Amino acid sequence: MTIFTPDTSIASDVIPSPNFGERNQGRGIDMIVLHYTGMPDVEGAIARLCTAGTDVSAHYIVLEDGRIVQCVPEEKRAWHAGVSAWAGEEDVNSCSIGIEIVNRGHDWGYPDFPLRQIAAVIALCRGIMLRRGVPSHRVLAHSDVAPARKKDPGEKFPWHSLANSGVGHWVQPAPIARGEALMLGTISDDVKNLQMALAKYGYAVPVSGKYDGPTMEVVTAFQRHFRPERVDGVADHSTLMTLHALLSSLPGDGGKAGK
Ligand SMILES: [Zn+2]
Repeated sequence: MTIFTPDTSIASDVIPSPNFGERNQGRGIDMIVLHYTGMPDVEGAIARLCTAGTDVSAHYIVLEDGRIVQCVPEEKRAWHAGVSAWAGEEDVNSCSIGIEIVNRGHDWGYPDFPLRQIAAVIALCRGIMLRRGVPSHRVLAHSDVAPARKKDPGEKFPWHSLANSGVGHWVQPAPIARGEALMLGTISDDVKNLQMALAKYGYAVPVSGKYDGPTMEVVTAFQRHFRPERVDGVADHSTLMTLHALLSSLPGDGGKAGK
């Protein structure tokens, strides 16, 4: 793999990864997926993403000090999302830019994200959104597109800070209060309405009226991103209100999340 010219001047280094292919049928870029590396040290994380045979990669790695490393040209299909889906699209890698944010993750103490690192993520995302025409509601967490398998970048990731800088779709979460809630095992029309609302937003969730394991995983992923104060997989009033506020604040045409 030879050195290439970075797609953005804010990338300070290029460490080419051999782990990429072509975007399927010339699929255009209209999504950004954010990850954490989830490994105890940064050298190991970079090696994993840039070594042949691991079958994983990302377009960018954002280090804790804010430096940005590019590993795969934006035109190419990096291998970051794995089995995943959003708004009916199951080949997320073909339509997305993958950004790995260096953080040890839930299995290694899950430290806070440093401000300099978040500032770099914001600058990187803003550039991609402008260059590629990615709408804010298509800047997503790995856990959004693979809720059964992934937690990253997790409930500590400051989505509200990104939104303050025009990156990502966000509403102030509705306050948590006591009251009835939908939870594992519930079977009702309210569960069906919840599932339809989650699916309308983009999540891959069965619409069955039964609050089953996959539904709980999707609610958990939703909370990690949009109501991080309590991540328990229980659809309380705050979760439902926050979801509906997000749906009603999507762009006028419903965006691609409505498909
Ligand atoms: Zn990930």
